[in-house]
Amino acid sequence: MQIAFIGLGNMGAPMAANLAAAGHSVTGFDVAGTTATGVTNAATAVEAVTGADVVITMLPNGDILRAVAADIVPHMKPGAVLLDCSTVDVSSARAVAELCAAAGLGALDAPVSGGIGGASAGTLTFMVGGSDDAFTIAQPLFDIMGQKAVHCGASGNGQAAKICNNMILGVTMIATCEAFALADKLGLARDKMFDVVSTSSGYSWSMNAYCPAPGVGPTSPADNDYKPGFAAELMLKDLRLSQQAAEAAHADTPMGQAATELYRSFVEDEDGRGRDFSAMLPRFEARTRGD
Ligand code: NAD
Repeated sequence: MQIAFIGLGNMGAPMAANLAAAGHSVTGFDVAGTTATGVTNAATAVEAVTGADVVITMLPNGDILRAVAADIVPHMKPGAVLLDCSTVDVSSARAVAELCAAAGLGALDAPVSGGIGGASAGTLTFMVGGSDDAFTIAQPLFDIMGQKAVHCGASGNGQAAKICNNMILGVTMIATCEAFALADKLGLARDKMFDVVSTSSGYSWSMNAYCPAPGVGPTSPADNDYKPGFAAELMLKDLRLSQQAAEAAHADTPMGQAATELYRSFVEDEDGRGRDFSAMLPRFEARTRGD
């Protein structure tokens, strides 16, 4: 397949390199001039997408995605598919899909989980919104870049799945961290706390697979001085998207709202930026009730 890849950052560069290594012809473009192994760089986004069967975007946010889409859609080959793998707001994903439909193009929103490690190893999970036809065209590419692609329904549903999942993750991580800090103050040893909760009804991915307490449970960023991992500011981005979507849909999400405010404060007013999102544990540890 002839593939264009726009946005060769931390995630995009290894994803594009995996497609090239699998034998596809990949032309890339990034405003920062970054490149990826096996990928031919184009001078502009328009040059990159000309003649491409599938155009993949991996960009920072919805405004940039909208701007890039407005730029490239008029130059894409009839019947080609725009496959956006960025994490963006649901409305931007749906607006870009409408723009594509009006131009006779397919569109998929396919945000990922798995982080930079998953992007390099080709083991990402894709949550996909869009038509069956577009999904079928993109399936072989999902197979190269990832281990699983779930077709979640119409355009925007991939983003909806991603932000709902990450809202649960943010909330459960905070709950796990505040419970550890409470256990400390009650004199309960962390390994005992892990032993009980990881096999009781308080268990979750945050506790069992990504335990925020160093030296307890499986190896996680807590064991590496809370170096990310999944940075607190990326969690804040996803929580904000969840609240933006909840406002638009008139959904009541009090826990999501509280988690957003806690991560906002952690990242913007405290020392959370650049630390793993599980560093909420030392944060709670250092605080007392009423702080
Ligand atoms: P990044 O900032 O490393 O990469 C984004 C790239 O887009 C940059 O290289 C930037 O120069 C480029 N870019 C910006 N504007 C552009 C434009 N107009 N045209 C062309 N290129 C442009 O970010 P990343 O970590 O690769 O993340 C990309 C997306 O994936 C984000 O939406 C992020 O939320 C999502 N995501 C990231 C992770 C992660 O662990 N890093 C995990 C899951 C999802």
